[in-house]
Amino acid sequence: MMRMTVLASGSKGNSTVVASSRTRILLDAGLSCRELLKRMAVAGEDPAQLDAILITHEHQDHVHGLGVLARRLRIPVFITEPTHRAWVRMLTPRTTITYTQWLEQRKAENDKATAGPSTTLGMTSEEADSSATALLRNDKVVAGNDKVVGDESPDLTEASLESVSAEAEDEDAPTEKAAKTPLTHLPAIEFFRAGSNFSIGDIAISSFTIPHDAADPCGFVFEAEGIRIGIATDLGYVSTNVKQALRRCDGLMLESNHDLEMLRDGPYPWAVKQRVMSRVGHLSNNATANFLADEYDGGAAYVVLAHLSESNNLPALARVSAEQALAERMNLLGNQLRLAEQSAPLEAICL
Ligand SMILES: [Zn+2]
Ligand SMILES: [Zn+2]
Repeated sequence: MMRMTVLASGSKGNSTVVASSRTRILLDAGLSCRELLKRMAVAGEDPAQLDAILITHEHQDHVHGLGVLARRLRIPVFITEPTHRAWVRMLTPRTTITYTQWLEQRKAENDKATAGPSTTLGMTSEEADSSATALLRNDKVVAGNDKVVGDESPDLTEASLESVSAEAEDEDAPTEKAAKTPLTHLPAIEFFRAGSNFSIGDIAISSFTIPHDAADPCGFVFEAEGIRIGIATDLGYVSTNVKQALRRCDGLMLESNHDLEMLRDGPYPWAVKQRVMSRVGHLSNNATANFLADEYDGGAAYVVLAHLSESNNLPALARVSAEQALAERMNLLGNQLRLAEQSAPLEAICL
C-alpha cells in the first residue's frame, strides 16, 4: 500500500507526505516548520516517523521551513546540488558595503597609490557622496538579481527575506539559537542528479527534470509494493520527458495553476503574468486538460489537481476543466478527481 497526503499546495506553500508501509518521505517543506507540524497533526501524519525530506526546487513556496524542520527532526534532505547551492545563496544574502567602509577603502587605495598624505581622495565630498550612492545602488542590484524569488511573487525583498530568517530563528530550539546554528545547516544532505533513479527506504524514486525557472527543478515518481505515484507541479508545459515519466501511475498529482483569462485580467504586473504563462512558468487549467485528454494514459485511481493559484484560478474552474477532459475518455473507470488546497491538508489518498 502507498499513501499520499497533501499537507498544502499552492503559491504560498507546498508539502506532501508520500509513504509506503515502511518509509515516509516529505516532499517539499514550503510552510514554516510550525505550520508543517500542525498540518501533519491534523492529517494524522507523525513527524517523528518521517525518514527524509525531498526537494523539488528552491522556490520559497517549496523550501520555506526546510532548514528548521530538517534540524528539528534530524532527518536527511535529498536535493540536487544546483538546487542546494541556490537555496544556500538565498539564505546568505551578500553583505552590502556601507558608505563609511567604502570611503575608508577608497582612502586606503588612494594612500597606497600616491604613497603620500591624501587630502580629498581625488574628488569633492559631493562627488564621493554620489559615487558611493551609485556603488551602493549597484551592489543592491547585484544582490537583488542574485536572490531567488518565490513562485508567482513579483519579488522577494530584503525585508521579506529577513522576516523569513527571523521566523526560522524563532522556531529553532533555544540551544540551537544559543549556538547560532547557520540557517543553511542541514543534519545530512544526500545529493541526487536530476533525471536519476534512487531509493529512500523501500520507496524507489525516479526523478525527472521539469521546465520551470529554478536552478534544477524536478518532478518525481514514487514506487513501492507495485504502486506508482507521480507528482509534477511547477512546470511551464508538459514536456516529452514528463509525459513519459507519468505513464502507468496509480496516483497522479498534477499542477493546474491558473485560468488563462483570470491571469490575463488579474492583479499581477505584466512581467509576472508573462513569467507564469511562459514555458518555464506554470501549467494552466487548459494545458492540464489537454494533457489529460490527449496524452495521459488514464491509469490512475486518483488525479489530484495541485498548485492552484489563489489570485488567478478558482477550484471550480480547474475541476470542470479536468472533468471535461477526463469525461471525453469513456474508458476511464477510476480517475477520481481531488483538488489540493492551500489552507488545509487533503484527506490521505491510499492506493
Ligand atoms: Zn511552487
Ligand atoms: Zn516554483
